[in-house]
Amino acid sequence: MPALEMEDTRANGFNSSPAHSPGRDLSSQLLEAGWRKFFSKREQRPYFFNKFTNQSLWDEPTLGSPGPSRHDPLGIATPSPSSVMSPQECAPRRRHSSLDSNSQVPTKKASLLISSSWNLTIPTNVIMYERAMSDVYPPHPMVEQSRAKSLRKLRQQYEEACMTREGIHAPLESFNRWLLERKVADRAAGLTSDPILSSDCENPVSPSMCREILNDIPVKLVKPKYVSDARRQLTKYAEGAKKIIESRNVTPESRKIVKWNVEDSFAWVRRQMNASYDDYMERLAHLKRQCQPHIKEAASAGTESICRKMYNLAKDDTRKLSEMSASIWKENGIEEVISPVLVTERKVFCYPRILGTPSPRLPTISVSSSSDAISLTYNEESLSMNMQYFYKLECLYRLNCKDDPRNEHFLARVWCLLRRYQTYFGVHKNEGAALQAALPATVFECLSRIFGVTFECFASPLNCYYKQYCSAFSDTDGYFGSRGPLLDFHPIAGSFEANPPFSEELMESMVNHFENLLENSSEALSFVVCLPEWRDPPTKALIRLESSRFKRKEFVVPALEHQYRNGFQHICSKDELHIHSSHGTLLVFLQNEKGFEKWTPNSERLSELAISFQVSKTK
Ligand code: SAH
Repeated sequence: MPALEMEDTRANGFNSSPAHSPGRDLSSQLLEAGWRKFFSKREQRPYFFNKFTNQSLWDEPTLGSPGPSRHDPLGIATPSPSSVMSPQECAPRRRHSSLDSNSQVPTKKASLLISSSWNLTIPTNVIMYERAMSDVYPPHPMVEQSRAKSLRKLRQQYEEACMTREGIHAPLESFNRWLLERKVADRAAGLTSDPILSSDCENPVSPSMCREILNDIPVKLVKPKYVSDARRQLTKYAEGAKKIIESRNVTPESRKIVKWNVEDSFAWVRRQMNASYDDYMERLAHLKRQCQPHIKEAASAGTESICRKMYNLAKDDTRKLSEMSASIWKENGIEEVISPVLVTERKVFCYPRILGTPSPRLPTISVSSSSDAISLTYNEESLSMNMQYFYKLECLYRLNCKDDPRNEHFLARVWCLLRRYQTYFGVHKNEGAALQAALPATVFECLSRIFGVTFECFASPLNCYYKQYCSAFSDTDGYFGSRGPLLDFHPIAGSFEANPPFSEELMESMVNHFENLLENSSEALSFVVCLPEWRDPPTKALIRLESSRFKRKEFVVPALEHQYRNGFQHICSKDELHIHSSHGTLLVFLQNEKGFEKWTPNSERLSELAISFQVSKTK
């Protein structure tokens, strides 16, 4: 533990020791009670805003007797008569915790801090510097519904662009990986940024989208089942390569090479009487090796223009969605653009990402439930989840949310969360599931018991095992304990598990991030990183990990000998919960000196960890 100010801030997210840093002229009691000082640009004077109660005052608050607010600079506590409310917002509001007996939600008092898929009682050992509040718009169902519509349309436009310009279907999941890669490159922040879409990337052409489209031109290659399929695939590729090279702008040399190789392959196919499956596969690999650089040359201009188009569409949507949030704020009488408090140099236990922006009133959500599922409806759109996971969210909300003491926003925030992840997953059956697949609970239990792990670097409120985790979205997930996106999170001590979604760029940035953190910390820091063991060719992240100077140990859990938890664990049935892994999983321990001393990956511990992956234990 660091010798500095190490009070447990888990209760309220703030250290209660006195603040001495510049910009911090509120007493620690006021800070703890949720008060922050801001500056009103319109009135040119400071005002005070309480993050937990949404109360705003011109004069410095006094503790103990809140009394009637003399002023309400943000118009939240007492909305001005002129503020326009939507019909739903005017409707009588039920005051309830979702578990209140008079609500539509099941009355069973659920205390699901521990289940077979999570343990929310494990306290954090992660230490960071206190950080500024996040200044993005809080979630709102109306905006979330529009975001879903925009993303649905973008996915469709992507498919159409691939089909009309390149004659191929959009590569499977490449849109999702594009979202992930773009976020790594995005410099947009604050109220003009979007949680899913990116709008300020130096290079509008996404390397991951470009790579994936080019890989499917002229035809998408899939592992054939039979010899006849292998022969057909070879012929199809040869025909496609010929067509592209004849119709696009390429050098005469490229055209010559491709044509020669294609003719050679056709001749080879004609000569074969008894070629085996492997013969055809070898021939196809050879042809692709010879042609692909020239096909890339022929198709790159078209592919780049698809990427550019997608980036510009995302930019437009970002602007529209941000304008929509702004107008909701306006309707709610929230006029100030709130800047977060200055970052202090105090070390604290990690606490959830807190929004420094006030939440508007949220509309009523209706609820219906059966014994094992619950359905939440907003504006005629119903979203369902397994009841256990609803109770999990309830626990996470109670543990982490500080601005909603009467749980009035709980249902609307769960609705936004579900809508957000559904949008993120995609529209096709099983789409996005692989990017949300989780390690088995037995592994997390083992990691915490023998390596002191208390934190997941990549997670969601739906798939997290611990109550401390990073996730893609600060706005929807912060109320449920998220510490925000990993690359914005800078811990200085603690023991972590990291199972990133399969985006090359994100995985590589993750390794850089961990190395920087390890380099700059003198406290015990440890990361157990899990990656698919793809070696044909190896991913850059895998190469970087294996050659990292912080690597202490690595081991592989072989393909098919372990399972992952389904990316749809919150909605799937119990017998679909675990899925056999078709690839090996590589585990790498990155640790600094103190991390290594504290959580040494010795052979005894590693064999225990290997056992925790065994399939029978996860059933
Ligand atoms: N928590 C589970 C599941 C990991 S799946 C485990 O550790 O095994 C990967 C998760 O990372 C997904 O839930 C995805 O939404 C989330 N994610 C995506 N981008 C992220 C980011 N930048 N920071 C943190 N989490 C992210």
